[in-house]
Amino acid sequence: MQDFVNKIVSWYEKNHRQLPWRETHDPYRIWLSEIILQQTRVEQGRPYYEQFTTEHPNIQSLAEANEESILRLWQGLGYYSRARNLHKCAKTVMAEHGGHFPKKFEDLKKLPGIGPYTAAAIASFAFGEKVACVDGNVYRLLSRFFGISDDIASPKGQKVFFEKAQSLIPSDRPDLFNQATMEMGAMVCTPKKPNCMYCPLQAGCFAFEHNKQEELPVKTKKVKVKKRYLHYLIIKHEGEVLMKKRDTKGIWAGLYDFPLIEGKEAIVDFDDLLENTPNFNGGKFLLGQISQQYKHVLTHQQLFVRFFEISTKNQAAFQQVKEAFQSHSFPLEETMGIPKPILIDQYLKEHQLEGVE
Ligand code: SF4
Repeated sequence: MQDFVNKIVSWYEKNHRQLPWRETHDPYRIWLSEIILQQTRVEQGRPYYEQFTTEHPNIQSLAEANEESILRLWQGLGYYSRARNLHKCAKTVMAEHGGHFPKKFEDLKKLPGIGPYTAAAIASFAFGEKVACVDGNVYRLLSRFFGISDDIASPKGQKVFFEKAQSLIPSDRPDLFNQATMEMGAMVCTPKKPNCMYCPLQAGCFAFEHNKQEELPVKTKKVKVKKRYLHYLIIKHEGEVLMKKRDTKGIWAGLYDFPLIEGKEAIVDFDDLLENTPNFNGGKFLLGQISQQYKHVLTHQQLFVRFFEISTKNQAAFQQVKEAFQSHSFPLEETMGIPKPILIDQYLKEHQLEGVE
């Protein structure tokens, strides 16, 4: 056990990546980085971390920001419930803890959007508490090295791994141990093709000895991927366009998108689309262009998206369709500043929306 700890810490001290959130003990910055990096690669998350800490250098600033500006900053990271919880948590820390994060693992877990892993990261990196951070990298490393075959997707398996990590963590510098196990899992004991030849843990590693790297860790939960066909209507009238705020449920809650028609299959023709659109008098609208189909892959869904750009000179028709879709009209030049799903943002960046002649 001690050998495992010594080797991994010594490897970390020589080989770890320099990352801005590792240079600080500020719980606000550590928390921010951990929330951003959930289900996000370091290279992708880093500019977001820098943007957030520049615009909101402390928790008070974040708590006082409005939700739309936070969603705008978050745009492109996906899983927008994380951004909403980020804001909720900042407000809770201000209102209930005088602007200071609680120092204990057990108290941190009670804050919105903070699960056991994030609570452990804040408690150990900011406050030196001896509590193990077990993320996907650590599950993999421990599973392979110790030959633990419990399912990492099950609560029982997660308990086994947490207890294992907790039994290894040293009293002095628990933060260093946590950083080292996560970094080793991310950089050496990778999901595919782990770098066993250069791994300091090779001697004594169960998976290496038994050639079980591909079988460990065990994760039985299957993700069912649903296909969805989304058809967006970009409806313009005299320099304005209709957009709609998504309600509080779903992957894009709180963001804006265009009036949407979802079909059981892809629709490529405007007339076919109209047949699927009650209360919409297509005769008063001019078809501009129909986009290619875009594919957007999420964890549980594959989205196939097409944009139909249409316009009208008829104020009454525009008003009618605005009400039918319960949408709002915005000046075209304001659309870039509105928080929206990344695929819509990309479309708008690629296609200049033009007003009605
Ligand atoms: S020897 Fe290979 S499988 Fe074992 S811990 Fe190192 S990288 Fe992972």
